[in-house]
Amino acid sequence: MSNPFDCYECGDEAEFWRFETWTEGVGGVEYEEPFCGDCIKDAGPSQLDNADINYEFRIEPIAEAFGMRTL
Ligand SMILES: [Zn+2]
Repeated sequence: MSNPFDCYECGDEAEFWRFETWTEGVGGVEYEEPFCGDCIKDAGPSQLDNADINYEFRIEPIAEAFGMRTL
């Protein structure tokens, strides 16, 4: 099984999502970008300017990069 995602920074095979969500206007925004195992270490929150009580930042594994199947 191949991993279809490339790192946002360097173009290598990505292993993690940088996931952020926050409120904008009346709705919520979700934003995620793929990073490889090296670049994710430097990939901190990018939307702190938009942070509010609903702001969330997390790093999630890309299932395909760990040999798992996503539905
Ligand atoms: Zn990278």
